[in-house]
Amino acid sequence: MTGEQSIRKAAAARCMEEFPYLYETHLHTKEISACARSGAADMARACKDAGYTGIFVTDHNWHGNTAVDKSLPWEEFVERFVKGYETAKAVGDQIGLDVFFGWEAGYNGTEFLIYGLSKEWLLATPQIRDAGIAQQLALVHEGGGLVIHAHPFREEYYIPKVRLFPELVDGVEAVNATHSCHLSVSHNKKEFDEKALAYAKQYHFPITGGSDVHSTALLGGGMAFRRKLKSGRDFVEAIRSGEEYALTNGDLWFNKNGEPIV
Ligand SMILES: [Zn+2]
Ligand SMILES: [Zn+2]
Repeated sequence: MTGEQSIRKAAAARCMEEFPYLYETHLHTKEISACARSGAADMARACKDAGYTGIFVTDHNWHGNTAVDKSLPWEEFVERFVKGYETAKAVGDQIGLDVFFGWEAGYNGTEFLIYGLSKEWLLATPQIRDAGIAQQLALVHEGGGLVIHAHPFREEYYIPKVRLFPELVDGVEAVNATHSCHLSVSHNKKEFDEKALAYAKQYHFPITGGSDVHSTALLGGGMAFRRKLKSGRDFVEAIRSGEEYALTNGDLWFNKNGEPIV
């Protein structure tokens, strides 16, 4: 092990001691996300094995790269759309992994992670289906949820251009392990994260961290708390109230201001 590796390892160990409850906040399942390669049950087991306390299943939604038939009536669509989460949750309940519901809302390549809402909320809020970005924020807020701009500075063929909506989000995903973990084989460009962090700082946004994993080849990213989260809503409260947490891209650890912990 090089000197740098052992310093990193010591920093990670200290963070895990202070913030022992690690959550994957950005994860896809094959059943629901057309681009994912592993099923929900396998994702849950892999995350448990990797030491996560819990995961948020954030599959691509009705305007994103979903594997669910987008022409289904809303109620049927929602019942299908939550299957990735429900399957992971059933496994999680058996093996001791907390599984929370979220989704990744796509708007022509620009994406938002939505936390703190439920299947019941979706069923009762069919107008979210055709909501624009402003209306999305209003509806999610009315429901008590959180809108996080996912990887705002990623540049890829499926993202026509970087679009920012500082007035329409609650926070920014500034640590995306896909961009910066040495294990990542796609979108791996750490400046995407650096730009996201600068953007978050400029607007004083809270930042989140997740891996954006699409298979059981996990990256180890996420957010770590001092306490066990009770629910997806509890996560939203933790972010809103400014609770302390640490973030990781699987290699490095950061405090909630995005400063590296060494
Ligand atoms: Zn995807
Ligand atoms: Zn994603």
